[in-house]
Amino acid sequence: MNNSIRELIDQLEQTHSLTHTEYAELIDSRTAEAASYLAGKARRACQGIYGDAVYIRGLIEVSNICANDCLYCGIRRSNASCQRYQLTAKQILSCCQEGYALGFRTFVLQGGERGIDIDTLCGIVRSIKKMFGDCAVTLSLGEYPYEAYRALFEAGADRYLLRHETADRTHYQLLHPPEMSYDNRMRCLRDLKEIGFQTGCGFMVGSPGQTTDTIATDLKFVETFAPAMCGIGPFIPHADTPFGTKQAGSVELTLYLLSILRLIRPTLLLPATTALGTLLPNGREQGMMAGANVVMPNLSPPEARKKYTLYNGKKHSGMESAQHVAELRQRMAAIGLRVVASRGDAASV
Ligand code: SAH
Repeated sequence: MNNSIRELIDQLEQTHSLTHTEYAELIDSRTAEAASYLAGKARRACQGIYGDAVYIRGLIEVSNICANDCLYCGIRRSNASCQRYQLTAKQILSCCQEGYALGFRTFVLQGGERGIDIDTLCGIVRSIKKMFGDCAVTLSLGEYPYEAYRALFEAGADRYLLRHETADRTHYQLLHPPEMSYDNRMRCLRDLKEIGFQTGCGFMVGSPGQTTDTIATDLKFVETFAPAMCGIGPFIPHADTPFGTKQAGSVELTLYLLSILRLIRPTLLLPATTALGTLLPNGREQGMMAGANVVMPNLSPPEARKKYTLYNGKKHSGMESAQHVAELRQRMAAIGLRVVASRGDAASV
């Protein structure tokens, strides 16, 4: 490893900040040796704040009905071959009940955009919080006006995940139809934070049109926005989308970026995502070793899992399944980490 990359990594570890050009250099001049040096520092930074704890979240895919038409996504509205579904409040609560018994204390409700109306959603959030008072509720349901977010927060939701997808305006337009806007996505993120949600942003690695320059912009965005959470995973094509024949993103770069994100913001709740686990059999372990501290096993009913296909080959069994949390515990223990049954809120330091 040459001196200049070592210095960049040391500087990032100490100051939690680099310039746009330095982020780009850190990405472009990476080597296997630099990646392992960086990962070691990232794991130690995580350890310093969260110790050996791994936080788990039960992911409930509440609906694949979607009003948006993101070019990369398998549940986009113009994918006519997608069989649409929506879980009832009763089904969602029964997922939570099953998850609670398995040791989950955070439930993540994710779904397509504007499938379920806000009043119904608020009712569901209230019911979950009433039945499981020691649990956190995370929502990942896309873009809404300020008032809708506010209502969901007042209903008791604790966290909101809304990946920014890319912090580069031109790249954003390439990934989305003309009626979607970078400005609105960013407005949503600011609103969520202001309302008081533990807010998460994030992006795909290797999405069509992504460059070192756009990734450097993403990293600078995470540095300045200072989110509680950040979700990143490799882009994986879905055959029934305009990006169906594009190449999947790199697992190696995803791991490297996880480490950079940990050093940018040591308190981040940083998941080793399903997309990473889909491309890499031991993706959960490797993600942790690179600096991640969260896993989100799937808690959706089996029928929903099959239909919630954001990309081809999306894993929902084995280590990706909430029912196999015992195996997840063992595998984390094997790398010196401990799956804990707590809400797993972001640390404030
Ligand atoms: N409607 C919600 C949830 C979207 S699905 C929202 O807009 O936030 C959650 C995430 O899956 C997306 O934010 C996107 O980053 C990721 N995703 C979608 N399609 C993907 C693909 N083909 N490959 C990898 N990740 C994908």
